[in-house]
Amino acid sequence: MTGQASLGSWGRYPPARQNRWVLTPGADPFASRAERVLAFGNGRSYGDVCLNDGGTLLLARGLDRFIAFDPATGVLRAEAGVLLAEILALVVPQGWFLAVTPGTQFVTLGGAVANDVHGKNHHLAGSFGEQLQAFELLRSDGSRLTCGPDTNADWFRATVGGLGLTGLIAWVEIRLQRIANPWIVAESRRFASLEEFFTLNDEYEARYPYTVSWIDCAATGKGLGRGLYLAGQHAPPGVAVPVTPRRSLSVPFAPPVSLVNTWSVRGFNQLYYHLPRPARTLLPYRAFFYPLDHLLEWNRLYGKRGFFQYQCVIPPGSALEALREILARIAASGQGSMLAVLKRFGERTSGGLLSFPRPGVTLALDFPNLGQKTLALLDRLDEVTRQAGGAVYPAKDARMSGDHFRHYFPNWATFTDFIDPRFSSSFWRRVMAD
Ligand SMILES: Cc1cc2nc3c(=O)[nH]c(=O)nc-3n(C[C@H](O)[C@H](O)[C@H](O)COP(=O)(O)OP(=O)(O)OC[C@H]3O[C@@H](n4cnc5c(N)ncnc54)[C@H](O)[C@@H]3O)c2cc1C
Repeated sequence: MTGQASLGSWGRYPPARQNRWVLTPGADPFASRAERVLAFGNGRSYGDVCLNDGGTLLLARGLDRFIAFDPATGVLRAEAGVLLAEILALVVPQGWFLAVTPGTQFVTLGGAVANDVHGKNHHLAGSFGEQLQAFELLRSDGSRLTCGPDTNADWFRATVGGLGLTGLIAWVEIRLQRIANPWIVAESRRFASLEEFFTLNDEYEARYPYTVSWIDCAATGKGLGRGLYLAGQHAPPGVAVPVTPRRSLSVPFAPPVSLVNTWSVRGFNQLYYHLPRPARTLLPYRAFFYPLDHLLEWNRLYGKRGFFQYQCVIPPGSALEALREILARIAASGQGSMLAVLKRFGERTSGGLLSFPRPGVTLALDFPNLGQKTLALLDRLDEVTRQAGGAVYPAKDARMSGDHFRHYFPNWATFTDFIDPRFSSSFWRRVMAD
C-alpha cells in the first residue's frame, strides 16, 4: 500500500515529505521497487534518524504479530513493529518485564534495536542490544540474515544501533527479566548541586537497579546543578495499593507558538523542585518508567515549529566540569528546558558499531525551536561535549554537524560497508554531506 504523507518525528523538526509503504506480515517489503527506503517504527525519535525526505518510508508498525513467548524462560519473539507497550501488556501479568526499557513504552522492537536504546538501569543491564538473542534482517537483494551475538555477529554489531540503515528488521527475539511484582518501590531526594548528585548517585546505584534524576537547568548561582534524584526497584511479592485507573490525557493540537518558553520553564522548574513529595512511595510501573506517556501528543506543546532534544554523554573524568559549563551556557542563553534528565551510564560497553551509550554521565534536554538562536546554543553545547570527550545521541538529534558525528562515532567508516544500497535517511545524508 502506498501514499504520500508528512510523517514526522517526535520533535516535529525537520519537516520531511516522503512516500509511505505500509508493510504487512508475509508480504515482500521491497515490492514497491522504490529507491532510497527507510523503515519507520513509531516515530518516537526526536530528529531525522526516522525520516527520509524525498524517499520512501517502510511503515513497520504493520509487522505486529507475536511469534512465540515461553513463560518458563521469558524468551519472547515478535515482529519488529510490535510496541514495547504491547509486550508489557502480555508479559507483566505473567511475572516478566523488559530487561531494558527507554522512557516511553510507545516504541517498536525494530526502533529499539536500531537506536540501541537505554533505560534507567543502564548501570546494571547495559543497553537494549544486551537483551537481544536474535533478529532477522531482510536485505533489499532478497537475502535474509538471522543475526545474534554469535551468529552473523558482524551484521549484529552493525544493525544494533545501526540507525535502520543495514536493512529491514523483520522480527526480534529478546530475553525478559523475572519480576515478583509490577509495582515499583520508589525513593526520591532533592540535591542542591552537581557534587551532591554524584554522591547520591554512588549511594543509590549500590542499592537500586533503576536510577534517574531531573535537573533544574534554569537555576543559576548557588542553585546551579540542583535537582531531584529518583531511584526504584520492583516491589516484593504481595505488595500493592488500590488504584483508580487514570485516563490518558491528550494535547489536541499544536498551538502556533510554543507554550514552553523562558517564563513557563522557570516557573515549572521552581515549582517542581520545591514540590513536597514523599521520600518513599509505591508506584505503578507505568508511572515510574513512562511518566510522559500519560499526556499523549505532549510534543505538540512546543507549537508548530517543534523542538530539539539535546542528549550528550560525558566521560566520568570530565563530567563534573563539563556539566557545569553546559548548565551555565544554557542558563545564560535564557533557553531553559523543562525536561532535563541526568543519568550515569555504567561501564558495560554497547554491542553496536554506532551505539551511543558509553561510560559517563548522560544529560538530555528539550528546547523549543527558536530558529538560529537555538541552533547557536546547541552548537555551543557541542563545543563543550566534544572537548570533554563526549558524544551526542543520534536518536535525539536533528542538527549536529557531520564532523562532530564522525568524531563521536569513529566506527562510522567500518559501518558504511554494511549499509543496504537501497536504504538511506535524512539523518545519514545530513551527517555525510559535510
Ligand atoms: C518520551 C520519550 C522518551 C524516550 N526515552 C528514551 C530513553 O530513555 N532512552 C533511549 O535510548 N531513547 C529514548 N527515547 C527515544 C526512543 O526510544 C528511540 O528514538 C526509539 O528508537 C524510537 O523507536 P520507534 O519505534 O519510534 O522508531 P522510529 O523513531 O520510527 O525509528 C528509529 C530508528 O529505527 C529504525 N527502525 C524502525 N523500525 C525498524 C525496522 N523494523 N527495521 C530496521 N530499522 C528500523 C528507523 O529507520 C530509525 O532509524 C525516548 C523518546 C521519547 C519520545
